[in-house]
Formats: sequence, C-alpha cells, structure tokens
Amino acid sequence: LFSAVEKAPNDPILGLNDQFGADENPRKVNLSVGVYYDETGKLPLLECVQRAERQMADAPKARGYLPIDGIAAYDSAVKNLVFGAGSDAVNSGRVATIQSLGGTGGLKVGADFLKKVNPNAKVLISDPSWENHRALFSQAGFTVEFYPYYDAVKRGVNIDGMLTALETAEPGTIVVLHACCHNPTGYDITSQQWDQVVAIVKERKLVPFLDLAYQGFGNGIAEDGAVIQKFVAAAGDFLVATSFSKSFSLYGERVGGLSVFCASKDEADRVLSLLKVMIRTNYSNPPTHGGSVVATVLNTPDLRALWEQELANMRTRIRQMRTLLVADLKAAGVKEDMSFITQQIGMFSYSGLTKEQMVRLRNEFGVYGVDSGRICVAALNTKNIDYVCQSIARVLQ
Ligand code: PMP
Repeated sequence: LFSAVEKAPNDPILGLNDQFGADENPRKVNLSVGVYYDETGKLPLLECVQRAERQMADAPKARGYLPIDGIAAYDSAVKNLVFGAGSDAVNSGRVATIQSLGGTGGLKVGADFLKKVNPNAKVLISDPSWENHRALFSQAGFTVEFYPYYDAVKRGVNIDGMLTALETAEPGTIVVLHACCHNPTGYDITSQQWDQVVAIVKERKLVPFLDLAYQGFGNGIAEDGAVIQKFVAAAGDFLVATSFSKSFSLYGERVGGLSVFCASKDEADRVLSLLKVMIRTNYSNPPTHGGSVVATVLNTPDLRALWEQELANMRTRIRQMRTLLVADLKAAGVKEDMSFITQQIGMFSYSGLTKEQMVRLRNEFGVYGVDSGRICVAALNTKNIDYVCQSIARVLQ
C-alpha cells in the first residue's frame, strides 16, 4: 500500500532550518524562520511566563480533559484582546471563540468550518503570503488563488491590484488578510486602504479571514488589532485566527485561537457548536499547559502589564535592528538605498535580494534567509549584524 507513496517536498522554511543545523560555518546566522531572538541571540523565556508557571507550580492541578473549545478563561481573554474588553462585539455575545493549536490550528479549524458551510467557495490569499496559507486551505479542500499584493518595483503594496481583485471576486469568496505585520513582505496597507478593503468586502459579500499572528509586533497591541474594529463596524461575518507563539515566545506550546464574528448571539452559539464538531473529530480538545499560562498572564493585571512591557521591548528591539541594518549595509558599501527596510513592519523584511543572491549568502557565508529574499529582522543582534551586512554587501557587488 505504501510503496507508491512519493516523498513529499520538505517544508521550504523548516527545511532550511535543518540545513542551518548541519552547517559547520562558525559564523552562521539563521534569518530564515519567523522567530524572535533576543539581543544575545537566544529564544526568550518571558518573565511573565515564568511567573505564571511558578504560580501554577505552587498550586498544582490534575490534568483532566479540557472542554472541546478549551479553557473558558483563555477563550474570553482572546476575545477581549482581539475585540476589546467591554466592547459591543464581546458583550452582545456575537463572537464564538475557541482555543486552538497555535495560529495554524485556528486557521485550520476555521478552514474546516468554512468548508462545511460554504464548500464551493474559493479562497484568495495575498501574493505572496505565508507559504502555509496556500497549503492549509488547499488541504482543507479549497481552490486557492492569489490577489496581487507585493509591488517589487515600487517596494510596497500594489493596492490597486489588490482592490481590483477583491472587486471582481465572487460573493462568498474567502479572503485571507494579514491583520498586521505582513509575512513575508513586511509591508502593511494603511488605515485608509483598510477602509477601502472593508468597503469592498462588504459590498461584494466576501468572507474575510484575518490572520493575526503578530499582534504587538507592529505598532502596539491595540494599534495592530485596530483593523478588527473596522470589520466589526462593517457588521459582516468574519473570522480571526490568533497566535501567541511569537507574542508570548511560546512557539512549542501551540497557543492560539479562532474567533468568528457573527450576526447575533444565537448564530454565534450555533457556529460554536459546529467549530466544536470540527475540533472533536480532529484532535478532540486542546492541551492544558500553554493555554493556562496565557490565560493566567492575560487575566492577572500585574502579569498582563509585564507581558505588555516585554512585548513592547521585543517590538522596539526589532525596530532598532531595522535602523541599524540600513546604516550597516551602507557602511558595508551597499550603494543601493536600503531605507525601505525601516518602512517595513513586524518581524520580516523582503530584502529585494534575488534567489541566486540568497543561495550565495547561504552557501558562501552561512547567512540563511528564504529564497524569496525574506529575512527575519528579529533574529539580528548587535553581534551578528555586521557580519550579515558584510555578507549581503559581497553578494550585491
Ligand atoms: N500566520 C502567519 C502569517 C504566520 O507567520 C504564522 C507563523 N509563522 C502563523 C500564522 C502560525 O502561527 P503558529 O506558529 O502559532 O501556528
């Protein structure tokens, strides 16, 4: 039976990780994955997380099954974070939220749910997008197509192309939108452009699926979530996948959520019941540890304040790295104006380097980015940035 199974290709980004691990270059730098490293090049274990874990260890609890939709205090914290505590959206009961296995799990539960309610819909994702968007929605049975997004010549967003694609999409089309910190390009659309998107989505009766994987890494927690309010105001149905992998530096705990904004409380209750069927038949219910940590931090005022501060520190350090990257590239002899790097936002930069240049960076210098030219700015620090800049300058010569 299995003799005919063909070897599936490695995940393009995680595959690079393996290659990096095996590289013996002592100066190697990994800028390929979407992970935040601190100034010393280490994956941080946030203080707020450590304190929550100590509290939990001091009052140990048995680990029964969680409800299918997860820890109630976690779900309400996600809802409050995404839609605003005390907001009409939350108070009216119109949001159905479940605890998911990371942002990916939220997207997949949402995709399976949408496949049930509108099986013939098409999915549109940005060109380019996080690689797993296409794979995940295809795997859920959808036809996935692109809407224009990145404009390489202008170094920014092809907003006209994007709007035209949405204007001509069939009603019911699912549109995956990066709520902030677009991965991989680092270019977000402006608030006014979001208004245009929201208006078209409403008029064309499209189904927005917002991917909120980097809340707090752009301009701030509230600022990065502002677009959610625009969709609430437009009053149509939409979905939001939340990830805490980055914002809590809890990548391996698989902490995320899916929220579905509905027309009424009654509708939200019915939606929640279907989400639960999707979960029950897939992994039954989520694990306890990561969700308990996040719920404790978000629901305890002093831990919450500490988290916001730690997240702000990560955000600020990334911004400093952007500024330093531009200056150091210049100092390393790069003639081209690289200041666009400081106009990008979040963890990533589309560097504009070609595939050949990225391959040379990897093979000759041990500097690992993605073939598309994407580098993770959050993996730079004052110790590796000079070497990275000198290496980039050499391949640009
Ligand atoms: N969406 C985007 C845009 C991402 O970049 C990522 C993480 N790389 C995810 C979703 C998934 O996040 P998680 O690791 O929490 O599953």
